[in-house]
Amino acid sequence: MLDRSRFPSDQMSTHLLFPDGVNELRMMGALDGIHASNPTRSPWLQLSTNGEAELLERWRQSGPIDYCMCVPRTIQDIELVTSARAAGADVRERHRLVGVLWRGGRAVGVRYADADGNQDDIEAKLVIGADGRRSSVASEVGAFRPYRASRNGRGLVFRYADDPMYGTREGKTIYQWRDGDSIGFMFPSAPGPKMLMLFMGAAEEATEAMNDQEGYWQRKLAEHPQMAERVAGCTDLTKLRATGDTSAYFRASSGPGWALAGDAGHFKDPVIGQGQRDALWSGRRLAEVAGPVLDDPGELDLALRRWERERDMECVHAYHFGNIETEIKPVSPVLVEIVRRSGRSRGDGPDIGDVFGRGRTLPQVLTIPRLIGGLSDALRRGTGGEPVGATVRGAIADLKVHLGVRQELLGRRFRYSGVVVGSEHPDPKPPAPTRPVARISTDLIVHDNPTETVISA
Ligand SMILES: Cc1cc2nc3c(=O)[nH]c(=O)nc-3n(C[C@H](O)[C@H](O)[C@H](O)COP(=O)(O)OP(=O)(O)OC[C@H]3O[C@@H](n4cnc5c(N)ncnc54)[C@H](O)[C@@H]3O)c2cc1C
Repeated sequence: MLDRSRFPSDQMSTHLLFPDGVNELRMMGALDGIHASNPTRSPWLQLSTNGEAELLERWRQSGPIDYCMCVPRTIQDIELVTSARAAGADVRERHRLVGVLWRGGRAVGVRYADADGNQDDIEAKLVIGADGRRSSVASEVGAFRPYRASRNGRGLVFRYADDPMYGTREGKTIYQWRDGDSIGFMFPSAPGPKMLMLFMGAAEEATEAMNDQEGYWQRKLAEHPQMAERVAGCTDLTKLRATGDTSAYFRASSGPGWALAGDAGHFKDPVIGQGQRDALWSGRRLAEVAGPVLDDPGELDLALRRWERERDMECVHAYHFGNIETEIKPVSPVLVEIVRRSGRSRGDGPDIGDVFGRGRTLPQVLTIPRLIGGLSDALRRGTGGEPVGATVRGAIADLKVHLGVRQELLGRRFRYSGVVVGSEHPDPKPPAPTRPVARISTDLIVHDNPTETVISA
């Protein structure tokens, strides 16, 4: 396994893992080591809409895990690397991918450069690109340009602070405040009493925040008065970090002798915090599917194709959920009523949080009867100042999007590139590959001892 960084290294992320993601860390053998840094376990979700409706839920259990965790990559990656080494992997840090080696149209290894710039080749039965959104492997195999993509509407602006409520129920809760068209989040983050505060307004706010850090922060707290109340008294506030560049995509992720795992193959809007979980999931499933057939190239390529399809089925509902959540629009009166009803009728058991915890899919949580029930409640109770006609039109538009998502899920098509109207906003200018595709042919080179698999990243 080659990675150009030296661990611990940081990645731009807010690092929240829901129970199913924490369970992936457990299956990788990294969780015990991570617990040694004593990260807060968060069994609660608190969601509030316009200060009018609120719910408090526990997370649905995934395996033995019933809590979320936010562990910066500086801590998380060290434990993942330690587990990989314990499982027998040869992990080489500060080794950069130079190119993929090809023989007869098949990826057969990689050329890399070490920390001193010396280049060498490794032959492999399978080359896995797990090298993130700007994946060089995707570029090398000609898959960089996504066959399906959607622009983000929201950006992320966040900072860390010390939480005076550390150790209390409030200090172990994942908060989401939805006010107007903006979303505020707060959750505990390792180590110790640290917590992360995050605003997801329009993508352009990332620039605004960097130009006037404290002015921006105060403006957003005024937009989210409950959040302002919760974070009052926090100390040791860090500088802001921000990005407005989080377009979602699917890339072709398998081919002869190669596969793209994690963000290298698929990315979804971070507003729903699923990327780490899906990166871990896709790596684990790839190993389970490809491991037994590594010695048979034909079987291996079929298995890679099956894996890519399974990944799409696993992720496509979350991709749409992210697309829907990233759109900048005011909280709908229908959602306020769905939250109100759920908060009242379900006690503190898992419900809406299942879409984040992956206990159930988006269509399973936001069922059509539930959407219609929310509309009828809104018409009965009042639409919060929005004209009734606009509420009805908005609800019909949302219903169409949800029906479009259901239709796509039922179709189960491979590398589907249609557009679900209302969810997807195709990018007119998709990003260019990191480098032109240059194939390094090894057709005349004979190697005796190919390694099993090489993972770039
Ligand atoms: C702002 C933001 C907030 C996010 N918040 C969350 C969140 O709260 N929860 C969540 O689950 N997800 C979140 N995500 C998504 C999540 O961070 C990613 O999905 C996840 O990090 C993907 O992991 P990965 O291993 O596929 O890629 P990466 O984390 O990008 O890792 C890629 C690795 O490849 C290495 N590499 C790259 N190029 C080369 C090369 N040429 N040679 C060798 N090595 C190379 C890098 O050094 C790095 O170690 C967020 C993303 C963003 C942008």
